[in-house]
Amino acid sequence: MLIVKKFGGSSVADKERIFNVAERCIEDYRKGHDVIVVLSAMGKTTDQLIAKAEDINPLAPKREMDMLLATGEQVSVALMAMAMNSLGVPAVSLNAFQVQMHTTSTYSNSRFKRIDSERIRHELDNRRIVIITGFQGINKYDDYTTLGRGGSDTTAVALAAALHADACEIYTDVEGVYTADPRVVPNARKMKEISYDEMLELASLGAKVLHNRSVEMAKKYGVQLVVRSSLNRAPGTVVKEAVKMERMLVSGVAVDKNTARISVIGLTDEPGIAFKLFSLIAKSKINVDMILQSVGRDGTKDISFTIPRGDVREALDILEDNKNRITAQKIECEENIAKVSVVGAGMASNPGVAAKMFEALYNVGINIKMISTSEIRVSVIVDSKDADKAMQAAHDSFGLED
Ligand code: ASP
Ligand code: MG
Repeated sequence: MLIVKKFGGSSVADKERIFNVAERCIEDYRKGHDVIVVLSAMGKTTDQLIAKAEDINPLAPKREMDMLLATGEQVSVALMAMAMNSLGVPAVSLNAFQVQMHTTSTYSNSRFKRIDSERIRHELDNRRIVIITGFQGINKYDDYTTLGRGGSDTTAVALAAALHADACEIYTDVEGVYTADPRVVPNARKMKEISYDEMLELASLGAKVLHNRSVEMAKKYGVQLVVRSSLNRAPGTVVKEAVKMERMLVSGVAVDKNTARISVIGLTDEPGIAFKLFSLIAKSKINVDMILQSVGRDGTKDISFTIPRGDVREALDILEDNKNRITAQKIECEENIAKVSVVGAGMASNPGVAAKMFEALYNVGINIKMISTSEIRVSVIVDSKDADKAMQAAHDSFGLED
C-alpha cells in the first residue's frame, strides 16, 4: 500500500512530538507499506515568520513573503528525516523544487498544476520514507509559491491524487470533524464520516480542520481522507463521496465571526443599479457572501450584503466615492455580526430544516438579521454576542449532541 500521512504544525511542534510522528510513520513502513509524509512548519513558525516580515517591511512583496514562508516547512522535513535516521530507518526529505510541484504563478495563494512523481517513486523504490514540505510549490519563474494559510492539507491530497495513493491520512490535534466547535459547544460529537460536499461547506464556513481547497481536490480526484489525531489512536472522521443512506438531516453547525454587513440605502428603483454596485465591489476583488434587496417603495430600494470584515474599509471607500453613480442616499456598516450555519446533505430532500432552525433561535430569544440557503446549508446572520448561543441552540435542536 502507498500511504500519504500529513501532520500539522502542532503535531511537530517540538522534539518529543517529532519523534512521536516519526514512530507512527515507521510503524507503517515496517509493515511493508510505502510511506509519504507531508509536514507543516513547526508550531507557530509561519505566524512568527510573518511577524518578522511585517517588522522589516509591512508592504513586503509577495514573492519575498513566499520565499520566507517556504523555509518553515523545510525545517520540519529535514528534522523529521534526521529523527527517522536516528531510529535506524532510511528517510529522505524533499522540498517543492526537488519533487517539482508546479503551481500557478500567483504568490501567497497559488494552486497546483502538476506534480512530478519520478523523484518520489525513485526514493520509495529504494525503500525510503519520503518526507515532503507542505504548503509550497514552484511556479514557471522557478520561484517558490505558497498555497495560502493551512495549505499543507492540499499538498497531501495533491500528492495522494498524483501518485494514486491507497490512503490519505490528515493528522491534527483534534480527533476528527465535529458536529460543532467543541470549544464552544461542549456536547459536540465527533462524526464517523462526512461527505465531500458537507465538508466543503463546513470548511468554507470556518470550521478549520481542513483547508477547503484540499476538500475540493479530494472530491475532484476521489481521494478518500481520514482526519484523526496525532496524539492518540482514536479512529477519526472519514471524508468521502457517498455516506450511508439513513442519514441525519443536519450533520454539523458552524459559525463565522469574520463577517460584516454593508447596507446601501435609498437606491433608485431601476434596472442596472445592482449591476453597478456589485461591479464596483468585484473590481476590488472583495468576496460578497449574502445579498438582500428590499422591495422597492416610493421609487427607492435598499441593498444589504455581507463581506469579510477585513475588507470593510476598502468597500466603504469605494462606495462613498461612487455614491452618486449608484444613486445611494446613505451607506451603513455593521461589524458586530456573525454567520451561523447548519449543513447537511439530508436537507436537500427534506423541507423544514430552515423553519426548525428559526424556531431554535426564537426559543432562545435570538433575532435573525439576514438569511441565505443553499441545497445543503441554511445560514443566518445574528449579533456577534449571540453567535455561540445560536450555535448551541441549533446544534441541540437537530439532535447532534453526544
Ligand atoms: N505552515 C502553513 C500555515 O501555517 C501551512 C499549514 O500549516 O498548512 O498556514
Ligand atoms: Mg491546518
